[in-house]
Amino acid sequence: MKITEIHEKKKNVLSFEIFPPKKDEELKNIDATLEILCDLKPDFISVTFGAGGSSNNNKTIAIAKKIKEVYHVEPVVHLTCLCYDRAEIDEFTKVLKAEGIENILALRGDRNPNVPEKHDFAHASDLITYIKQKHDFCIAGACYPECHPESAGRVEEMRHLKKKVDAGAEVLLSQLFFDNNYFYRFAEDCRIAGIDVPVTPGIMPVINAAQIKRMVTMCGASLPERFEKIILRYGDNKTALFDAGMAYALSQIIDLLANDVDGLHLYTMNNPVVARRICEGIKNLV
Ligand code: FAD
Repeated sequence: MKITEIHEKKKNVLSFEIFPPKKDEELKNIDATLEILCDLKPDFISVTFGAGGSSNNNKTIAIAKKIKEVYHVEPVVHLTCLCYDRAEIDEFTKVLKAEGIENILALRGDRNPNVPEKHDFAHASDLITYIKQKHDFCIAGACYPECHPESAGRVEEMRHLKKKVDAGAEVLLSQLFFDNNYFYRFAEDCRIAGIDVPVTPGIMPVINAAQIKRMVTMCGASLPERFEKIILRYGDNKTALFDAGMAYALSQIIDLLANDVDGLHLYTMNNPVVARRICEGIKNLV
């Protein structure tokens, strides 16, 4: 089923994001992870895709296929374009079509000095236009409540996002953030810009200190004072940080649900315990 159809049928669409394990031996664990995640009955699960030059991308497709065929949950396959040419994208979409995958999160991908960029696609909107000309996949796009790290400013960023939606992005999934006010301001900006597709907030429960540093460096999410205090107080205590990180994420999610958001995209980091605890915490709210 296309995720747009899911959005038409219900409010508060719940999705999980997972990544394919890098090492082949870890691939075995993905079954146990998927079993628990799918048992939580998300509306869809999205599977990340490397920026290029990675054989791991075949794992993305294999995992998506398993999500659909074995667990009967709708998969969304992430697809990046900066390091691929048209022929390679054609090959990926051909396989996706053959596997019955209906949903793609179309992305530019991060720049990586170790992977040469190709020149057919400069922006996610180029990929979306290209796929939409040839296929009827349902396309989602990424969005950034605190602006993309390469952004030239909020107005420019919104102009580019509108272009992405006009090209055919039918749902937007957001980058993680720790301060809901950024999301509310961003969602309001989207409406003002005439973007009327579902805009789904992305939440990552933070459960270890190293993960926080990595995330903030990678995506530029700002840390509110009350969150920094948690890290300061509990950063060295694994169990305490887990509890505090979960409580923080749950309080963000409850606030988002109370504000009637279109959905919730949970960055699970392949941790079913995290996903289960969040689902338990909101079971009477959705
Ligand atoms: P774009 O939409 O192309 O935007 C990138 C930058 O270019 C922005 O600053 C934008 O304002 C600007 N821009 C856009 N269009 C134009 C234009 N026409 N002219 C000038 N500037 C323009 N990365 C992965 O490698 N694999 C994944 O699986 C993955 N999954 C993700 C899932 C989500 C929900 C999110 C939010 C991000 C994900 N990413 C993933 C990261 C993403 O690839 C990076 O953030 C990347 O740097 C930008 O991708 P994009 O699709 O948002 O790019």
